Amino acid sequence: MAEVTAYIAIGANLGQAQHSVQQAMQALGQMPLTRLIHCSSLYQTAPIASETSPPILATGPDYINAVAAIVTGLTAPDLLLHLQALELAAGRERPYPDAPRTLDLDILLYGSAQMDLAQLVIPHPRMAQRAFVLVPLAEIAPWVVSAAQLAAVAHQAIEKLLSPTS
Ligand code: ADP
Ligand code: MG
Repeated sequence: MAEVTAYIAIGANLGQAQHSVQQAMQALGQMPLTRLIHCSSLYQTAPIASETSPPILATGPDYINAVAAIVTGLTAPDLLLHLQALELAAGRERPYPDAPRTLDLDILLYGSAQMDLAQLVIPHPRMAQRAFVLVPLAEIAPWVVSAAQLAAVAHQAIEKLLSPTS
């Protein structure tokens, strides 16, 4: 089966967020047909509301974010199902958009694929607006993020916490 390099954004802001993110990195490498190739440092960012979230609710503790590179033989929809199972196992609930979460796993890139399915849009449609995605992604895969993209989010506060764990 063809293998593809995919980039996964990992975020958490409830409970032991650093621990959740580090555990998720290891869990990514334990999915079927999948190897963990590279992990970014951990970053800390304040929650941001999107246009879909009730402004007063898009708050909560700071986020811990990171990006991981995997090589996988899973199809993109199967990969999403496995990521959602990991979110559920971490106790994720979805009471409202942008609610604080124990674990969020998003597919940023899946090889060079472009898809627009009801449940899955790749490249991730909001990645270009988010420093907490672009900065860790640029750390491990600088060739997929342009200087212009980084400049566009340079005003967003983001703080590096820990060095790469693998
Ligand atoms: P968000 O990650 O935007 O804060 P959720 O994690 O609750 O919000 O995801 C909402 C939905 O986004 C999921 O049910 C999933 O089907 C859909 N989705 C679309 N594209 C992607 C993607 N590239 N990666 C992860 N989820 C995606
Ligand atoms: Mg998500």
